Amino acid sequence: MKREILLLPVGDVSLDVLEWLAEALPSVFDCGCKTTTALPRPDFTWDKTREQYRAEAVLARASAGCSTCALAVADLDLYVPDLNFVFGLAQSGMARAIIALPRLRQSYYGLAEDTTVFRERVIKEAVHELGHVFGLSHCDDSRCVMAFSNSLQDTDYKQYTFCRECKKRLQTELIEL
Ligand SMILES: [Zn+2]
Ligand SMILES: [Zn+2]
Repeated sequence: MKREILLLPVGDVSLDVLEWLAEALPSVFDCGCKTTTALPRPDFTWDKTREQYRAEAVLARASAGCSTCALAVADLDLYVPDLNFVFGLAQSGMARAIIALPRLRQSYYGLAEDTTVFRERVIKEAVHELGHVFGLSHCDDSRCVMAFSNSLQDTDYKQYTFCRECKKRLQTELIEL
């Protein structure tokens, strides 16, 4: 049976974003992809001092009860305690990951919105976090989707596909999952 990735929209997520992912992920991971109905905005994870949502808690709530590989998608600014913010987070042992959309938009930085750039960033972040889920670590090849992104410039520079080494590892990991 073909592996399936479950897309879990958390709160209001534009249908465009879900469609981009549902279109891109199956070819990258050779999997099926299904989208659930949107989950309520996880207000209990809101930190009113930081004005952000806590990534782990959002992910835990969103993926509770999921038996298949799940990618939560939140149009919410997420953080983990040691970092100012995160673009995404993966919990590989749990086969689940989350991506945060707001900081992937040009408009977040006061620039004119660019849907093409936004779309590419969304796909790259999703593939990167799912790569972690499937056992990959960060890659030294700055064009590889598993390269660590320190900034959006890094994200924009890399591709949404895996380098040869990561691809090879991914295929091994995929069989093991
Ligand atoms: Zn990473
Ligand atoms: Zn790589």
